[in-house]
Amino acid sequence: MASGRADAVVIGAGAAGLAAARALSDAGHAVVVLEARPRIGGRILTVQDPEWPLPIELGPEFLHGEARATRDVAAAAGLAIVELPDEHVWAEHGRLRPMGEVWSRFGRLLERIPSKGADTSFARFLAGRRVGEPTRTMARLFVEGYYAAHVDRVSARSLASAGGEAGDSQRQYRLADGYFGIVQWLRSGLDPERARLRLACVVEEVRWRRGEVEVGYRSAAGSQRSRLRARAAIVTLPLGVLKAAPTETGAVRFDPLPPALRAATQGMEVSHVCKLVLRFREAFWDEDGFFRRRAAPALGEADRIDFLHDRRGDFPTWWTANPWRVPVVTAWAGGPRADALSELDEAGLVDRALDSLARALDVPRPRLEELIESWQFHDWRRDPFSRGAYSYVGVGGLPAQRALARPCAGTLFFAGEATEPEEMGTVAGAIASGQRAARQVQARLANR
Ligand SMILES: Cc1cc2nc3c(=O)[nH]c(=O)nc-3n(C[C@H](O)[C@H](O)[C@H](O)COP(=O)(O)OP(=O)(O)OC[C@H]3O[C@@H](n4cnc5c(N)ncnc54)[C@H](O)[C@@H]3O)c2cc1C
Repeated sequence: MASGRADAVVIGAGAAGLAAARALSDAGHAVVVLEARPRIGGRILTVQDPEWPLPIELGPEFLHGEARATRDVAAAAGLAIVELPDEHVWAEHGRLRPMGEVWSRFGRLLERIPSKGADTSFARFLAGRRVGEPTRTMARLFVEGYYAAHVDRVSARSLASAGGEAGDSQRQYRLADGYFGIVQWLRSGLDPERARLRLACVVEEVRWRRGEVEVGYRSAAGSQRSRLRARAAIVTLPLGVLKAAPTETGAVRFDPLPPALRAATQGMEVSHVCKLVLRFREAFWDEDGFFRRRAAPALGEADRIDFLHDRRGDFPTWWTANPWRVPVVTAWAGGPRADALSELDEAGLVDRALDSLARALDVPRPRLEELIESWQFHDWRRDPFSRGAYSYVGVGGLPAQRALARPCAGTLFFAGEATEPEEMGTVAGAIASGQRAARQVQARLANR
């Protein structure tokens, strides 16, 4: 890349930043990517450990529904995508009951959210509707688990606008060899002649005026400071980082602060999840008769656990690695349930998880202790470069979210999962947002 001012600087080398940089590099622009961590991928964190029977996803794991942008990358990269069996059961004290068509029931409920008038929280929406107790419980757990949101804070309208995606018996998929393949493909398209990726560069400041950006950053390994100038910046910082107090590690000062950024950080919320992946010596839940002994007659011919929900468990959601019949299960808590676990260290989380599983399946706790072999966990809440799992829209916050995706004086362009209303909180949304921001920058550079 020629020395001097870059056409664009991209802040963050997660899915959004790499997708943006790849698109700009393809279009012949000089681009520099600044990434705080000593690795690429951001919240995509696939661990390859030979002791485990499959790649371990500490961040994203599923493709939810169409996930067009992710699918396009997977197709271009030749990555296999596998559809998952998606049966959901209620579990309590070793009794398994059918949960029914959760996606479509939830989708039908979302259709009842008014598209006009004042926005309200999902909790208020539920309180004002005649909804049976089972559906109410399922809906709360779903919003807390899937969106990792607090029902009294999340905008009902934002859920309705994402409803097409959540409803209609949405299918779920996994990347057979792990999500990191997506990151590698995005990275591999950066032309070394035009694009430079700088790891371990913690951005601290973005000073800008129309047509000019100066980014101040420091080495993650010390206090060495540098500056970089460009005609435009694509900012893909996670919402948790954008909301961080100025003195916190990773926080970025904008000078001047774009009004759209101020509004978005006020109108949007950071969600928290606790995801713990456990490996046992054997998949005891697949043993002969294990499922049938616990299954209510209404479960019919079902004979395996895909997704399991225990509304009273510390970890209310569990899933196996089906269709791979391996001794790995994932424990998941989102929103308020994740908050309740936030003070525990890793050993404490494993302890609670074993308690939860023992309760849900009525398996003696000592047996689980005997069978447990390994676990994997990443603390996204305390990680200074994510400061949370993903984002959701607060009451009345939809316009602020949409405004953040618009160019700011043709110079600052915000991308990342938080800026993509239809697919927020997903990898597909992050990739699409990066590509959208790259198109915006290209249009701007072409007009100069
Ligand atoms: C536990 C968990 C489970 C999930 N499950 C799914 C799932 O099943 N399916 C799905 O589609 N999505 C899932 N998601 C969401 C998905 O991971 C994100 O939506 C997506 O990866 C976000 O990509 P991004 O590029 O917007 O942000 P990031 O990947 O967070 O990228 C932002 C980058 O900015 C960098 N950065 C931060 N601060 C600075 C700084 N000061 N200077 C320079 N760089 C900085 C970060 O290091 C990071 O690399 C999950 C997320 C989590 C945490």
